[in-house]
Amino acid sequence: MIKKFWVVLLALCSFSVWADNSIESVRVWPSPDKTRVVFDLSETPEYSYFMLNQQKPYRLVIDFNNTKLNTGLTNLGKDSLLVRKVRTSSPKNNRSSRIVIELNSKTEPNLFVLPANESYKDRLVVDLPGKSVERSGPAKSIDELKDRKVTIAIDAGHGGDDPGSIGPRGTYEKNVVIKIARALAKMINDDPGMQAFLVRTGDYYLGLNERPQKAWDAKADFFVSIHADAFRTPQPRGGSVWVLSKRRADSEVGRWLENREQESELLGGVTDILSKNSHEPYLAETLLDMSMDSSIAGAYSAARHIIDEMSSVTKMHKTKPQAASLAVLKSPDKPSLLVETGFISNPDEERLLTSNAHQQKMARALYNGIRRYFVSNPIDNTYLANQNSFTYTVKSGDSLSVLAQRYNTTVKAIKTENNLRSNVLKIGQKITIPSR
Ligand SMILES: [Zn+2]
Repeated sequence: MIKKFWVVLLALCSFSVWADNSIESVRVWPSPDKTRVVFDLSETPEYSYFMLNQQKPYRLVIDFNNTKLNTGLTNLGKDSLLVRKVRTSSPKNNRSSRIVIELNSKTEPNLFVLPANESYKDRLVVDLPGKSVERSGPAKSIDELKDRKVTIAIDAGHGGDDPGSIGPRGTYEKNVVIKIARALAKMINDDPGMQAFLVRTGDYYLGLNERPQKAWDAKADFFVSIHADAFRTPQPRGGSVWVLSKRRADSEVGRWLENREQESELLGGVTDILSKNSHEPYLAETLLDMSMDSSIAGAYSAARHIIDEMSSVTKMHKTKPQAASLAVLKSPDKPSLLVETGFISNPDEERLLTSNAHQQKMARALYNGIRRYFVSNPIDNTYLANQNSFTYTVKSGDSLSVLAQRYNTTVKAIKTENNLRSNVLKIGQKITIPSR
């Protein structure tokens, strides 16, 4: 036993005595616009790099000085359209490591170092701009369409290096919220009056300013960011809906949320953290803008519809819309909301949030609330604006299918409009008939 131990130790020493730093792991995060490669190191990296663009495969070559490689590189990049593989090559001296990233197309890499924090070691981040996964078709050209669909931008919070909150059983917020986001997108795309735009389509990080920007580029009419809450104690539970405030939040949970959002930026490692303050003058101006005020008013109205719907599928932590100063909601002229679907730090809600049935119910509540908002706050020339729904009192002999046929609509539409769970109608019951 002891002998074996020495052999292993000697073998390790022969490689390791000379290098102070080491690469402990390598992660690859493909996203629609770029692939991010993250090197985790035991110390602050010293590195240099160059591109080889003369012939295929194009290569980014990175030399880590005074560094050994402590991890394997197999299968890295297999999910990226841009990265072909990550491999080693002969180092420039025996105290360094050379890593080669083979690329399918030319790119201009952006390399930067992130310091160690609570969750991660020192990192070298390599951003490689270029299409890296298939895009989920952005909103079509909708301006010229009559009775157009409204476009709902759905932002699943966190992603990539930023797991979001972590539940007591180890559930990552980023994984729960993308499932709810995808379920919501499906329901929206099944609605003749709506279409969904998923802001984050996979497991990668997007900056807090990038998220509303993508929604804006997709000509979205509405922005909803989906999260799961956490608190430092396990007791708090329930959902809440947040709108932008011009001031810092006055509740403790609100300030917690504002801080968490900033931590996300640090974990995700965006390069524009420094520009955060230079962003403020623009923001101060925009906040005075009338359009901002009206989009906040719209957000309040939508938040009330969503809270109403959510209360039938989950306990609410707050039954009124909450206000906080959150970067992700700072979109100048469209209603923007952040929905906390529950507390992942509460063991019961952590279990609920990982259940597919509950995720579907939550998505349905969000869908119903958003739809109600667009029917009661119509945008000109949209399909939902022409829904001229009316109230009908159920009479003897009526059924959902009879009414659907009579008023040229569908059973599904009546049930959705009225949030009905069964097909049974009672005489004297008042229901809303959508126009189609
Ligand atoms: Zn979150």
